Amino acid sequence: MNEIKIFGHKNPDTDSIVSAIVLEKMEKTLGNTAVKAYRLGNVNKETKYALEYFGVNEPELLEKVEEGQKVMLVDHNGFDQSVDGIENASIVKVVDHHNIAESFKTAGPLYIVAMPYGCNSTLLAKLCKINNIDIDKTMAGLLLSAIISDTLLFNSPTCTDIDKQIAKELAKIADVDINKYGLDMLKAGTDLSDFKPEELINIDSKTYSTNGVKYQVAQVNTASIPDVLSVKEKIENAMNKFMQENSIDLYVLMITDIIENNSQIIVLGKQEIAEKAFNVKIENNTAFLEGVVSRKKQVVPYIDNVL
Ligand code: MG
Ligand code: MG
Ligand code: MG
Repeated sequence: MNEIKIFGHKNPDTDSIVSAIVLEKMEKTLGNTAVKAYRLGNVNKETKYALEYFGVNEPELLEKVEEGQKVMLVDHNGFDQSVDGIENASIVKVVDHHNIAESFKTAGPLYIVAMPYGCNSTLLAKLCKINNIDIDKTMAGLLLSAIISDTLLFNSPTCTDIDKQIAKELAKIADVDINKYGLDMLKAGTDLSDFKPEELINIDSKTYSTNGVKYQVAQVNTASIPDVLSVKEKIENAMNKFMQENSIDLYVLMITDIIENNSQIIVLGKQEIAEKAFNVKIENNTAFLEGVVSRKKQVVPYIDNVL
């Protein structure tokens, strides 16, 4: 119970896994030895590629927390995306790069750092610098992988100059070519061949609640949108099932082309909200969003705006 558990969001992405690992290391270096990194779900193929490349084990799985458990949140703050039992946990620290969610609340005082960078790992790299913590080759490689992942190799509108600058410094320490390594890593994440539809929609999926409307935005990266659309009906069945089981009002699945930097969306539920948000006509449950790759900057705020 004395242990402080560190974790990112459910359906963890590379940034959530790396942020937890690096914050654990940072805390320990600063003398806080009671911390331990966890993951709230399976590690995706892209993250696996990065962990294997730099020889790091994935964190242990955490399914729920008991009342009063001390926790540190990274790469998220909304309770919809956090561990089961978070409402009664004791949040002692948050390091994040998202907006503060409606559902976020703490009973006690806390240490909170939030910066609007394209990646939480950029913020952690900065915190290491501020605290004079040496970033070794392994840590640099992991942090760089997370930045490449969250910014889609600097192509996302969420990417800032700070992300680019820190990534360059990290690539030097990690001794990798950013573009070569980055594309290989992103491509490892687009291998969807052995996913069942219900798994595919859960690789990178987040829940939001705004003004009483509960919605889900999931994203899959691909090098070929038509490949993913070839199983559109099966995907829609899985989305419908998820919506029923979780009382979701609107479900948007972004199928993102990481080469061309566009997204095709499949929308179920209150489609009129999405039509208004993106100013498109949804036909046959789908629409094409040119130049849209970021859930955080190009999708969620527009839905919230309508709501
Ligand atoms: Mg994330
Ligand atoms: Mg992130
Ligand atoms: Mg992401």
